[in-house]
Amino acid sequence: MSTNYQPAAAFIPRPADRLDRAIALVEAGAVALVGRGSWAVQGSKGDFYSVVAVTLDGQAAYECNCPDAHYRTGGELVLNPCKHALATAIFVGR
Ligand SMILES: [Zn+2]
Repeated sequence: MSTNYQPAAAFIPRPADRLDRAIALVEAGAVALVGRGSWAVQGSKGDFYSVVAVTLDGQAAYECNCPDAHYRTGGELVLNPCKHALATAIFVGR
């Protein structure tokens, strides 16, 4: 199966495998729109996280409530999003 997702350059994650995990979440149907600018993403362990669209310094970004989004990524939503935020960006298609 070939995938050819082209996320915006700003969403290319530093750990390259995070993008693979985000694509896997999208392909598994783990991302669901739950409201205006609001998505639920089911993590790899079956846990659900809430992702919301935000604007930071004029840039669109996705904020996730998972621990990675606050610790592993250093809270950097635009340049270093967690896999759930990446999956949401891919799901939304921008
Ligand atoms: Zn997350």
